[in-house]
Amino acid sequence: MADCLFCNIAAGKIPSNKLYEDDTLLAFYDIDPQAPVHFLVIPKTHIDSAAALTEADAPLLGHVFAVIAKLCAELGCDGGYRVVTNVGEDGGQSVKHLHFHVLAKRSLAWPPG
Ligand code: AMP
Ligand code: ZN
Repeated sequence: MADCLFCNIAAGKIPSNKLYEDDTLLAFYDIDPQAPVHFLVIPKTHIDSAAALTEADAPLLGHVFAVIAKLCAELGCDGGYRVVTNVGEDGGQSVKHLHFHVLAKRSLAWPPG
């Protein structure tokens, strides 16, 4: 989508602090980090949010979580980490392209605000 921020980041038209890239996914550091480690994982193809996922996206989601586990291991997130995807207005989604926040290296409160 031409006017989608994360589509433009995935296409390299808008710069990002890239952590990982392959044919289907991009991981880059959040511009406004909420933890010592805070990066985002996005599919390169546009999906509005987790609400638009279907059974056919199972391989994509498996890949997302395997890449997150690999990156967190490489970054030494030995104390654990949190994966969050916000959906819609009440969920706090500000960018309407599916993304997974990964937060680590501090204790994270539960429940979230
Ligand atoms: P959400 O509020 O769940 O939609 O998350 C969107 C996230 O994208 C926020 O944490 C923002 O800080 C982050 N963000 C917005 N613009 C950029 C950008 N250009 N590069 C990296 N992260 C961004
Ligand atoms: Zn997009």
